Amino acid sequence: MYRAFLIKYAEIGIKGKNRYIFENILRDRIKAALDHVEGDFCVIKESGRIFVEAQTEFDYEETIDALQKVFGIWAICPTVVIEDKTWENIVNHVCDYVRQAYQGETFTFKVKAKRSDKSYPLTSPEICAKAGEAILERFPELTVNVREPQERIYIEVRGSAAYVYSKMIHGLGGMPVGSSGKAMLLLSGGIDSPVAGYMISKRGVEIDAVYFHAPPYTSDRAKQKVVDLAKKISVYTGKIHLYIINFTDIQMYIYEKCPHDELTIIMRRYMMRIAEHLAKSASCQGLITGESIGQVASQTMQSLLATNAVCTLPVYRPLIAFDKQDIVDIAERIDTYETSIQPFEDCCTIFVAKHPVTKPNINIIARHEGNLKEEIEEMVKKALDTVEMLEVTPEMEYGI
Ligand code: ATP
Ligand code: MG
Repeated sequence: MYRAFLIKYAEIGIKGKNRYIFENILRDRIKAALDHVEGDFCVIKESGRIFVEAQTEFDYEETIDALQKVFGIWAICPTVVIEDKTWENIVNHVCDYVRQAYQGETFTFKVKAKRSDKSYPLTSPEICAKAGEAILERFPELTVNVREPQERIYIEVRGSAAYVYSKMIHGLGGMPVGSSGKAMLLLSGGIDSPVAGYMISKRGVEIDAVYFHAPPYTSDRAKQKVVDLAKKISVYTGKIHLYIINFTDIQMYIYEKCPHDELTIIMRRYMMRIAEHLAKSASCQGLITGESIGQVASQTMQSLLATNAVCTLPVYRPLIAFDKQDIVDIAERIDTYETSIQPFEDCCTIFVAKHPVTKPNINIIARHEGNLKEEIEEMVKKALDTVEMLEVTPEMEYGI
């Protein structure tokens, strides 16, 4: 019965003069999402709203599923398109719609009309009154309640056709990706960082990612897992440039030269420095991590202070105040959880000390980093020179 979808915006609706910029980005994101759905669609921006209209047969479930992964959509309204706008025809379709969409349910309702075709012989209040009457006549079990209706039945008469809708399917909310700049996600194979990337992207931020790989201590399977996670979040974020840094030499060198209980912190400081370097050359305005206060020794306030100190770009930590279970809930919802819990080693866990410092002193850490001076610059340069870059999309094929 449905051939179109009216898209209700999330926060874009409250933007002022720049609103059209957000709308255009959202329209493009919707087009991209529907590229992979069976059927041809036309995405139209018209008088402050976006309509998706199917031009051919299409798969309803797949379409809804694709639209439910686009940030910036607050709700999706499946819509009936009535090409012949004569009033009798519209009324018949409206009644058919009520019959099929509600299948004998009893409810209170109100008709809301919008007439952008000003040459149409009925005004909006007339459309409401006449359609309301017709519905009551056909379905005597229903009642009108203009103040607090359970259902609002919308009729829009536009240039090319009339449209009827009333149901709303929830979207993700947020802002369309590409409306708020770009950030570099430190993506490990864990549960947290994919969720962190998803959350920042939901605010309209484009995402690139960096993974620190330590072969042979971390296997190809561990790398595959990170690529798989990037693919899973790219369903929402769009294409991700995933940078893979060979971190082995740096890690071994720190292990050799620095106190073992400070290894994790010093290593994380080098990760941040390298990530920042990549971020700047990829025109990112920030870094993203999956850190959460107190989750592990390297995420106490003192440890975060020490890691943060080497960055000049802002570091976004959307999970900072989240409990693990709350993070797991999101991971399950966005379908990264099962991949994250695959048991492959992580470069942080390999050389990890039995008793890592939980309250590192920045001055002491910096002094110990002084032990690295001769070769570390060279190693960082080599790591950056040998970086591998993958363009990750949901359809990408990558297997080892
Ligand atoms: P996650 O579940 O995301 O792995 P975690 O709880 O294991 O996080 P840590 O290992 O302390 O926490 O890492 C904290 C953050 O540092 C991660 O969320 C991620 O952003 C970044 N990070 C850690 N290891 C790596 C890595 N090998 N490559 C890229 N980023 C990493
Ligand atoms: Mg981790």
